[in-house]
Amino acid sequence: MVRLWQHTDHKGCSSLIHIHIISHFCISFVIFIILFLPPVIERLQIKQHTKMSEIEKVHCFIIGSGPAGYTAAIYAARANLKPVLYQGLQPGGQLTITTDVENYPGYPNGIMGPQMMVDFEQQAQRMGADIRWGMVTKVDLSKKPYRIEVDEEKWIEADAVIIATGASAKWLGLESEDRLNGHGVSACAVCDGFFFKNQEVAIVGAGDTACEEALYLSKLCTIVHMFIRRSEMRASKVMQDRVMKTANIKVYWNTDTVEVMGEHKVDSVKVRNTQTNEISIIPVKAFFVAIGHEPNSGLFKGMLDMDEQGYLITQPGSTRTNIEGVFACGDVQDKIYRQAVSAAGSGCMAALDAERYLGALEHA
Ligand SMILES: Cc1cc2nc3c(=O)[nH]c(=O)nc-3n(C[C@H](O)[C@H](O)[C@H](O)COP(=O)(O)OP(=O)(O)OC[C@H]3O[C@@H](n4cnc5c(N)ncnc54)[C@H](O)[C@@H]3O)c2cc1C
Repeated sequence: MVRLWQHTDHKGCSSLIHIHIISHFCISFVIFIILFLPPVIERLQIKQHTKMSEIEKVHCFIIGSGPAGYTAAIYAARANLKPVLYQGLQPGGQLTITTDVENYPGYPNGIMGPQMMVDFEQQAQRMGADIRWGMVTKVDLSKKPYRIEVDEEKWIEADAVIIATGASAKWLGLESEDRLNGHGVSACAVCDGFFFKNQEVAIVGAGDTACEEALYLSKLCTIVHMFIRRSEMRASKVMQDRVMKTANIKVYWNTDTVEVMGEHKVDSVKVRNTQTNEISIIPVKAFFVAIGHEPNSGLFKGMLDMDEQGYLITQPGSTRTNIEGVFACGDVQDKIYRQAVSAAGSGCMAALDAERYLGALEHA
């Protein structure tokens, strides 16, 4: 030892001390692992186990709070399915962004869209539906019970799932279109055309739906100005022919909408011819946007059958999807009618389908 000290210079001495400290640290670390790691692992396992056992179990889970979701909740609650409904980012659905609704039966004097949806919610609550604020962020429909993640933090297990996530209208993205939405700007001619009876209106869009909506408006309004961005329509030949043969539909080819004009309500539209750059201002009382809808079905991609536009496919005459115990209703599975009353009707069907499915499970 003395010799070692004798032959060791200052640097060698400090590295020996370092080695000593490191080996001491390693031994302490190993002792720590041996003594403390098993209890930590055990605690983590317990925690995980508790988490598993804490997963809420629901008989009937409804996603969406538009006319379809709330109607499903009313029927499911009355059938004692104890439904839990998550409202999503737009409690009340699409009708909360409109003003008067005059075509929903039971309201002889019409009703404001947002108020109508409060009525729906209150009725569902009175029946005993558990209505919750929250967004479904993930679903696992690969095995039963189905698992649903809410707000990226909570998982719920459900025996039956009713999807009523609706669809969103596509907009042009103009500031003026947003500002005058509900004040002459609309994405639904069947819903709002009536308010502009015997007046001049405009519509933008070039597909089958746009043609259908232009034809619908032509029966109510004096002139329908139809703006098409290109020199041709995307609509089927038969629909194009019908539009072209309708005397009071005036088609503007190669025409872009620049601005919807009016302070508090629509009074005209500014358009630009894309070939000549000529600007025109056309006096109209309403501006209809018919450039398509986007079904809110992204969560179910790869699990549920959907068409090329993303609409969920249900078996004819029912709300059954390709996965048993999973039902779809309202606009997310309906690209044809897209009305509150048809959405509510299919919500009723979904709850009845779920009731039958759950009843059969219990007796199996
Ligand atoms: C401007 C406008 C005016 C209209 N006017 C009329 C009218 O006068 N009469 C008429 O009959 N129809 C009208 N409609 C059409 C009508 O609003 C729809 O047909 C109807 O709302 C469809 O109902 P729904 O329940 O299928 O879906 P929506 O009303 O679209 O509701 C979908 C619901 O799903 C929820 N959701 C979506 N994703 C999630 C998720 N991940 N987690 C949880 N929840 C989710 C949303 O928050 C929303 O609550 C109008 C539509 C628009 C846009």
